[in-house]
Amino acid sequence: PLVLGIETSCDETGVGVVRGTTLLANTIASSMDEHARYGGVVPEVAARAHLEAMIPTISAAVATAGIRLDDLDAVAVTSGPGLAGALMVGVGAAKALALALGKPLYAVNHLVGHVGADLLRDGGHLDYPTIALLVSGGHTSLLLVRDLRSDVELLGETIDDAAGEAFDKVARVLGLPYPGGPHIDRLAAEGDPTAIRFPRGLSLPKDMERHRYDFSFSGLKTAVARWVEQRQDRGEPIPVEDVAASFREAVADVLIAKAVAACTDLGVPRLLLGGGVVANARVRTLAQERCAASGIELRIPPLSLCTDNGAMIAALGAQLIMAGHESSGIDFGADSTLPVTEIQAS
Ligand code: ATP
Ligand code: MG
Ligand code: FE
Repeated sequence: PLVLGIETSCDETGVGVVRGTTLLANTIASSMDEHARYGGVVPEVAARAHLEAMIPTISAAVATAGIRLDDLDAVAVTSGPGLAGALMVGVGAAKALALALGKPLYAVNHLVGHVGADLLRDGGHLDYPTIALLVSGGHTSLLLVRDLRSDVELLGETIDDAAGEAFDKVARVLGLPYPGGPHIDRLAAEGDPTAIRFPRGLSLPKDMERHRYDFSFSGLKTAVARWVEQRQDRGEPIPVEDVAASFREAVADVLIAKAVAACTDLGVPRLLLGGGVVANARVRTLAQERCAASGIELRIPPLSLCTDNGAMIAALGAQLIMAGHESSGIDFGADSTLPVTEIQAS
């Protein structure tokens, strides 16, 4: 089926067009620059930016795909989880479009969409079951995907900050611009990852029963801030590269350790990564090394499909259509806390 997908859960206005598992367009407008001076995404600013970007982004995606809106079989939209006001803009636009065109509308889960992104390469193949690790500025979740269209289970998630959020906060401590992830990654390449032993959240033996697959990054962020402050108080210079490398190592270590543990515990020989933090060089190499050592097949979609985008939403919509799911109608709303088990919202 030919599906147009709309994504507005955070700061990217994404519109994608797919035919089944074939990617035809993936157009993105980001309001990232507008959030930079606040050091994080400001919900109202994001919502207004989506409103302004929506029509031009739809037009650009349709032009890139070389289709006419009339040719569409369906429209798909992220209904949650995400920022409520931001989600509402996408949901409103998708409803209007579907109504005007007389096409069915599918309301889909953003997190499951991240998993669906992997279908848009390699001829659209996804082996089941698979473990998925989704890491971005807004989420850090470990999923067991038995079937993208019908069976997704949340194994664990962050109990405080998301991993990308930790990168952004630590960057701020080090005086680096927002978003801080890429800057820390760059500096870390010049530093010694063993220089400072920062804590690995929820990784002690006592955490293994209740929080084996959960994450925590706020303690790590505080540890970095305290370490830097103590140096500053003593008037000593801050070895920014070593701090960046040691912090990055702590994040990558705990992310990949828990993902690989999930694969091993549950006997799932596949790991899929998604989300903007997948751009991190150390996260990628550590995943490659440890997956290879444990006989786990590692799948990392191209970065343009890892960060928030509309194509993954269209791809998930197409999967639901191909599985014979009914459309979502028009009465659903944005749900900022939509659980991952609700692949299609109703
Ligand atoms: P959502 O959480 O809804 O998916 P988001 O906008 O917060 O949306 P993304 O756009 O997927 O998330 O990713 C942005 C985050 O990824 C930021 O926190 C940014 O610092 C982080 N990031 C980007 N590149 C890197 C990198 N090389 N290393 C570490 N973090 C990175
Ligand atoms: Mg973003
Ligand atoms: Fe996302």
